[in-house]
Amino acid sequence: MQIVFKKVPTSGVDFETSIKDIKFYGTANKESKNLVQCIGKIEGTLDYQCDRCGNDFPLHVKEDVKLFASDGVYKSDDDLLDVIEFFDESINFDTMLESELGTLQSDYYYCSTCKEN
Ligand SMILES: [Zn+2]
Repeated sequence: MQIVFKKVPTSGVDFETSIKDIKFYGTANKESKNLVQCIGKIEGTLDYQCDRCGNDFPLHVKEDVKLFASDGVYKSDDDLLDVIEFFDESINFDTMLESELGTLQSDYYYCSTCKEN
């Protein structure tokens, strides 16, 4: 799902997208001229490889997400913001979700068997 930056109102617009069994939904608000704040949830089940034994298991995800989408290069001294830059004048929520899933996959998770041991 994509929304053109110019069409995001300050009052917010709902968005929803999904990759496989993971859903990303919420509201996008215009924060400033080139910045859109996206607040929502990532919810669903991810096929994940246990970081201890390597077996596949379903990882249930339910996370509050607060991300910013920048229209072009984001310039600020504030490094605390989680900003994803877009260069075709529209926000691609699939890209945002992919980025968040990438972050998830860089963490460590164990299957139920390994958790018990
Ligand atoms: Zn395991």
